[in-house]
Amino acid sequence: MQKGNIGVTTENIFPVIKKFLYSDHEIFLRELVSNAVDATQKLRTLATAGETSVDDKELKVSVSVDEQAGTLTVTDNGIGMTADEIERYINQIAFSGVSDFMEKYKDKAEAIIGHFGLGFYSAFMVAKRVDILTKSYRPDSQAVKWSCDGSPEYTLEDIDKTERGTSIVLHIDDDSKDFLKKERIEQLLNKYCKFMPVPVIFGKKTTWKDGKQVETDEDNVINSTEPLWTKAPTTLKDEDYKSFYRTLFPMNDEPLFWIHLNVDFPFHLTGILYFPPIKNNIDLQRNKIQLYSNQVYVTDKVDGIVPEFLTLLHGVIDSPDIPLNVSRSYLQADANVKKISGYITRKVADRLNSLFKENRKEYESKWADLKIFVNYGNLSDNDFYEKAKDFTLLTDVDHKNFTLDEYRTLIKENQTDKEDTLVYLYATDTEAQYSYIQAARDKGYSVLLADGELDLPMISMLEQKLEKSRFVRVDSNTADKLILKDNSSQQELPTEKQELINEAFQTQLPQIDRVQINVVSQPMGSTARPAQITTDEYMRRMKEMSRYQQGMNFYAQLPDSYNLVLNTDHPLIQAILKTTETGTADSLKPVTAEIKGIQAKLDALRQERNKKKPEDVTQNEKDEIQNAEKALAGEQEKRRGIISESSKQNPAIHQIIDLALLQNGMLKGAALDAFVKRSVDMIK
Ligand code: ADP
Ligand code: MG
Repeated sequence: MQKGNIGVTTENIFPVIKKFLYSDHEIFLRELVSNAVDATQKLRTLATAGETSVDDKELKVSVSVDEQAGTLTVTDNGIGMTADEIERYINQIAFSGVSDFMEKYKDKAEAIIGHFGLGFYSAFMVAKRVDILTKSYRPDSQAVKWSCDGSPEYTLEDIDKTERGTSIVLHIDDDSKDFLKKERIEQLLNKYCKFMPVPVIFGKKTTWKDGKQVETDEDNVINSTEPLWTKAPTTLKDEDYKSFYRTLFPMNDEPLFWIHLNVDFPFHLTGILYFPPIKNNIDLQRNKIQLYSNQVYVTDKVDGIVPEFLTLLHGVIDSPDIPLNVSRSYLQADANVKKISGYITRKVADRLNSLFKENRKEYESKWADLKIFVNYGNLSDNDFYEKAKDFTLLTDVDHKNFTLDEYRTLIKENQTDKEDTLVYLYATDTEAQYSYIQAARDKGYSVLLADGELDLPMISMLEQKLEKSRFVRVDSNTADKLILKDNSSQQELPTEKQELINEAFQTQLPQIDRVQINVVSQPMGSTARPAQITTDEYMRRMKEMSRYQQGMNFYAQLPDSYNLVLNTDHPLIQAILKTTETGTADSLKPVTAEIKGIQAKLDALRQERNKKKPEDVTQNEKDEIQNAEKALAGEQEKRRGIISESSKQNPAIHQIIDLALLQNGMLKGAALDAFVKRSVDMIK
């Protein structure tokens, strides 16, 4: 028996490996099985080159556990190693990598985590001793056993082993006993080895017999050696893709469609990406792309490798060119990875484009499920938008779809305002905004439906991208003011009367939590409703956007602000104005006179003050202004009180307010109850 020292400078490297190298100890199995697969592949390559002969069909890897003996064994019938090769590949090469690395990162053991592929030596994360029993494929080679207990010392001895290949025997450490459990190993093999290119066998298939589970003679092969993505797309049918999707994601709904990726230059990449139906809840869909390197599972966290919006897709990507054992930030900066991500984005856009061009009907039928994905891409990746703007659809309230260009042409004639801006009208809820939608359509306008999760950010983005365009929600103004076409305004009431009727309603508005309503009046024609509620587009949009963007909290905290717009052309409003005028005329007279007097005085005082420099204004002058302001506020309060007193008696005012609130879904609780009672009284 030969003893030796592994060429390493840093003592006790193994505790470090064990502790810090991978957050997931379980990957040791992937490393050992993929080494075994490599060994068989190498033999295959040698056979192809005529250096040896081998029957392809006999190549295999098997994994077994012996709980009693405390061992886990990975066996292959691949190329094997001579004593010499062990010296070179295990003692020198594999380990030199580690020692270099330890030199560099001596002080920051934590930096090691997930940073470096240790391959074979990762076995020491779970084993207290590792044996290699191996016999090279070379004729007449001597079989050897290498053994190491985790110190830098190893032993090497000749053994009797007749079959070609290697067995790696792990004597599992006490704190890793979990890896002796059959179920655990089966689960890991399913995760990491499911698509490896050589059969991986784990025990025998079992069957139920006489109420018991018994082993059969058949090997339990856990992998499929030719997964779909390695096959030529021309040989595959739709059903093949669908059934492969089911094996990957048994719980998911059927995919809408898919892309088969296949590049050789400037990097190698194959794979299949599926478009899942996404209605909402984007986050549930993530982490469903599996990354493989030569059919060895690496991870399902592909952020950094594919652009974020593409993480909504499901499927597999296989590339030996993606550096696997490096940190995420390194990955994101890697030039290859950048190219790959650009390539995938382009492919996805091309695929959608051809679907749209070739079968628009089908594309439209899937648009509802596809929309979030496309819009997510539009919002996060300008290169994608540049391609996707041809197949991004707008949907109107009748569920008709238009491309951006088509829609522009459709509304150009009737929805361009006097500033030459194209006004896109939209609704977010066809039920709640029913009357506003109707009013807009009565004017011949088209109304879009924007009820999707990303529609609002999308609207903001389109306003930037499309020239001279503005999006306005149908309830943001009265129908005739949604799109202002000329300056000629209709007959307005004199200011005094407007103030009176506004005040009559303002004083009777119910208190609603976190809601602020401002009364205005304008002529809207005698056939329009007497009053309606509108929401200022800008403020509402800011509030809504604050959900998507950080730093907009200010808007989120503001109360919701609405306008109650009175139609001064409506006979009911005119009647209420009359009643209020007669009902308050006498009591308002002295107050109005007083207000006029104080206002005149205040104007004069202010004029005087404004002539002077701020430092020359005397205290006396300041006091006088302040007193006048106070007196004015007092009189105005009195005025409001008088109007309020009169309005309170007028059920028509309350009824009109409540109807407007009701139509907007804002009449609730006690207010709704009062409304119903009042309505009953009115028809009694
Ligand atoms: P890598 O696989 O990246 O080369 P490893 O540390 O996993 O690094 O393995 C080191 C070397 O040991 C391999 O390159 C190979 O030459 C040899 N080796 C490991 N396992 C086997 C095996 N099962 N059969 C033959 N050679 C092996
Ligand atoms: Mg390896």
